[in-house]
Amino acid sequence: MKTELHTDWTVKDICEGFVYNELEGKGLFGMNGKLTIQPEYQRNYIYADGKKDVAVIDSILKGYPIGLIYFNRLDDGQLEILDGQQRITSLGRFITSRFAIVDNGIQQYFRGIAKDKQDKILNTKLLIYVCEGSETEIKEWFKTINIAGIPLNNQEVLNAIYSGPFVTLAKEEFSNSQNSNIAKWSSYIKAVVNRQEYLERALDWVSKGNIEHYMSLHRYDDNINELKTYFNSVIDWVDSIFLNVYTEMQTIEWGRLYEQYHKQPYNPEEVSKKAAELYADEYVKNKKGIFEYILGGSNDSKLLEIRIFEERDKKTVYERQTKEAQEKGISNCPLCALGNDNNKTRIWKLNEMDADHVTAWSKGGATDISNCQMLCKTHNRAKGNK
Ligand SMILES: [Zn+2]
Repeated sequence: MKTELHTDWTVKDICEGFVYNELEGKGLFGMNGKLTIQPEYQRNYIYADGKKDVAVIDSILKGYPIGLIYFNRLDDGQLEILDGQQRITSLGRFITSRFAIVDNGIQQYFRGIAKDKQDKILNTKLLIYVCEGSETEIKEWFKTINIAGIPLNNQEVLNAIYSGPFVTLAKEEFSNSQNSNIAKWSSYIKAVVNRQEYLERALDWVSKGNIEHYMSLHRYDDNINELKTYFNSVIDWVDSIFLNVYTEMQTIEWGRLYEQYHKQPYNPEEVSKKAAELYADEYVKNKKGIFEYILGGSNDSKLLEIRIFEERDKKTVYERQTKEAQEKGISNCPLCALGNDNNKTRIWKLNEMDADHVTAWSKGGATDISNCQMLCKTHNRAKGNK
């Protein structure tokens, strides 16, 4: 790979003819069209938070270096930014008065700050390496670069490695903050759109967890039909079964549940009633488990982490049962007392017994002392398995 260091290109040179796409949140071009700011494999602009973008301008005004910038020269002479896209987009956006900084105590856009400060920014020289190399060389190298402060996340790295028509189309659908479907998606997925997190989830679902393999396989596809269809099937499935939206839904592995349950029939009215009941049930400790519990036929109460009896309640019940049993000369385990073996009159110790719901929790029985009985461990286990 060939590299040359440029030390005489100014902010003004780089930002000449700056084009920014508000819709996609991307810096597109600089140097009067000669520089592509956001190549396909670059992530979206994420500095527009009023802090990182402002920090770039502050640094320049204070004369601090903003670090090395890397360009890649393509065969046709066109340049594209390998590293520095966030910084250059910040400069371009500031110069075109798209955000303000605090100057002399007031919010100022570029056009409002003093002329000498404008000049200082425009005339600042940047340190820019221009590299020429094969696509593989450039990409290998890009993988090793971390943009200051915010390292690329997994999906951003994968987008860079497998850049091509598939990633471009996939980002248009799943990483586009203007996509009106995001409102619906966000009910069931917790994600930041410009950090590629919806895309990551969509790929995770369709690939059953093997994102990298899937991206490599489909890299040169000219459509994302399968990805889109599968993703929409999962979302529509959840949306059609659960009529109400709960915060916990954002953390559910819907892809796995879809695979497991989407061929089963459900009555959305009943499902929603059940979900609301469980949500209101103070004994259900794990609200996240409600959805899988219902989809699985309301059998596996382990998913709900039902609250257990308090120790002091167990002790009170134990003492009452034991006293009554001793008076009658029978076992203090009511089920042992009904039997005919040696345990019929056995008095168990507290640590040999477990608390049991007289009326099962799943049939509306409460987890309080009025619904608590102590059984010997054997009987308790036998009852629990029914
Ligand atoms: Zn027993």
